[in-house]
Amino acid sequence: MKLGFIGLGIMGKPMSKNLIKAGHELVVFDVNKSAIDELVVAGAIAAKSGADVASQCDTIITMLPNSPHIHSAVFGENGIAETAKAGTVLIDMSSIDPVVSKNMGAQLEEKGIEMLDAPVSGGEPKAVDGTLSVMVGGKKDLFDKYYDILMNMASSVVYVGELGSGNVAKLANQIVVAVNIAAVAEALTFAKKAGTDPELVYQAIRGGLAGSTVMDVKAPMMLEGNYKPGFRIELHIKDLNNALNAAHSINSPVPLTAQMMEVMQFLKSEGHDKDDHDSIVKYYEKIAGT
Ligand code: NAD
Repeated sequence: MKLGFIGLGIMGKPMSKNLIKAGHELVVFDVNKSAIDELVVAGAIAAKSGADVASQCDTIITMLPNSPHIHSAVFGENGIAETAKAGTVLIDMSSIDPVVSKNMGAQLEEKGIEMLDAPVSGGEPKAVDGTLSVMVGGKKDLFDKYYDILMNMASSVVYVGELGSGNVAKLANQIVVAVNIAAVAEALTFAKKAGTDPELVYQAIRGGLAGSTVMDVKAPMMLEGNYKPGFRIELHIKDLNNALNAAHSINSPVPLTAQMMEVMQFLKSEGHDKDDHDSIVKYYEKIAGT
């Protein structure tokens, strides 16, 4: 199938390469020209803008940082909406505010354009392996139609409900991940301050009830002092901000999310905003003096 793909960053680049490997013809665009060049080497066709992508493709995938980026890629100058024909389908795989997904979907529907919100979890390694988890909101028949294409990038693709539900699931995921990383960082810092080897503590507890994917992926990074992203603190702040706004708007209390937001804002103020979110351990090291 001929597909458009916009947003060739840490995630979009390997995801689009997997679509090419699966046999799709890909028309790609990013504001960063060197990212387009890398995809062209992998077999993609370069586009000059979102409007150029939409003039060539009836199905367009976007993988952009946040709500303002997707809004400008669709409705801004030279954006998708300028040239998209009625019947075009937009699959937004970015993690954004669920309310923005819903509103964009309604605006696009007036032009005969349909939309799914399909954010992912799993990070760069799973984007490379094609084993992401995708959570999808939108019309069920549209989900059924695009299931196989999404599976070209994933090992799990789950329908969650109406448009916006994919991003509600993603925000729930981000709450669990933030609190889980903080728990691992808190525990390892405590072990270190108690004079016990944190590496051995990790080995001792990872197979029990405390074990988790977060522990297996992030504890070794913390122990090595490796803060290379992966998933940047600034993107997690964006997600927690979206989660707080969404939760407050429906009176759903999220005290742990609010606390994690403060921890991440501290890390940003210390210059860690471009570091991986495993740098939460730096917060604990600072307050524990380890
Ligand atoms: P990134 O910043 O690495 O990539 C974003 C890309 O979008 C960049 O190449 C940028 O140049 C491009 N871009 C920005 N605005 C644009 C526009 N208007 N038109 C065209 N291109 C534009 O971000 P990422 O890490 O790939 O994350 C993308 C999304 O996936 C985010 O919503 C993020 O929260 C989510 N996500 C990231 C991870 C991860 O581990 N990095 C994991 C799961 C989900």
